[in-house]
Amino acid sequence: MPKALDTTIVAVVTDIRLGTEPLIGYGFSSFGRFAQGGLIADRFAPRLLRADVLDMLHGDGLAIDPLKAWAVMMTGEKPGGHGERCVAVGALDMAIWDLAAKARQLPLFRLLRQVFETETSLVSVPIYAGGGYAFPHNDLACLREEAERFRTMGFRAMKMKVGAHSLEVDCRRIETVLEVFETGDKVAIDAMNAYSSPRVREAAAAFEPYSLRWFEDICDPLDFATHRAIASAYRPPISAGEALFSASDARNLLRYAGLRRGHDVLTFDPAHCYGIPEYARILAGFLDQGWSARDFQPHGGHLYSLHVALGFGLGGCECNPHNFQPFGGLADGTAIVEGEASPPDIPGIGFESRNLLMDLFRQLVQS
Ligand code: MG
Repeated sequence: MPKALDTTIVAVVTDIRLGTEPLIGYGFSSFGRFAQGGLIADRFAPRLLRADVLDMLHGDGLAIDPLKAWAVMMTGEKPGGHGERCVAVGALDMAIWDLAAKARQLPLFRLLRQVFETETSLVSVPIYAGGGYAFPHNDLACLREEAERFRTMGFRAMKMKVGAHSLEVDCRRIETVLEVFETGDKVAIDAMNAYSSPRVREAAAAFEPYSLRWFEDICDPLDFATHRAIASAYRPPISAGEALFSASDARNLLRYAGLRRGHDVLTFDPAHCYGIPEYARILAGFLDQGWSARDFQPHGGHLYSLHVALGFGLGGCECNPHNFQPFGGLADGTAIVEGEASPPDIPGIGFESRNLLMDLFRQLVQS
């Protein structure tokens, strides 16, 4: 579990009542970024609160239109300079989609299919377990135990971290996980952007013989030349996109990084890249160039990314069953069936199916 990260949570409270309860949407800033609260409180929430509600109503009269609310949040924002405003907007956007889906009594993925007219009828998507961080003591034994636990839970694939040790140690770590998951196509590695350009070439050469599921975040996310060099030399898939937060950055990745259509994997996190409207633009940009929605596997490992994967017909998504709690993972008690999972069949994102997470959201609403 990485230290020093935090997650911002948000609740959008309306005066609409569903039975005896007020209609509330919940969101959070996914994982891996810091402190969105100031941006939300000073910049984006006031625009929503000041806006004429008629400017955000949907034509069907059922509460808010998330696309109109997104335009209100972005009023006056200039192109470029994405910084982390995109994460603040993404957290609010998540809560607004939760609210909009609840108002229509739909699970979020079904609302996404309606709004974006996606041609998918999937009822579940493949998931893989996110984990494999370096343990402070008995690393290999703990790593093996974690991999075995994932297997027992029903996962058929997992992702582990590399880059914190020497290549020799990382190879031993990979081999330890392969002893549990048996074949390389079930084990992805994630360097979390740690490698320099020369170093990632050495790493790619060391890891290539394992024929792994994919090699993620291989170097600086904006170093497209190094991505291109690795993509031209490293035979198994690489993955990219987790640390790119806008359609403009995604377009540059597509143009300059040499990624291989139908082979490499795109891990944009919808909560980090301005939420669903911008994620849909990113997806459309790749589809226009002949990529498939199946090439996308959003970062995050929580219920929201599962809805996005199911709603847009993506190739699958991450699942964090024990890291990043109480946010990571599926609805309480969800079974993983043949390596796939579905969100709960309740309106919205379904946070209400996670008791510890709802304790947190309720504290926020009451504060
Ligand atoms: Mg990653």
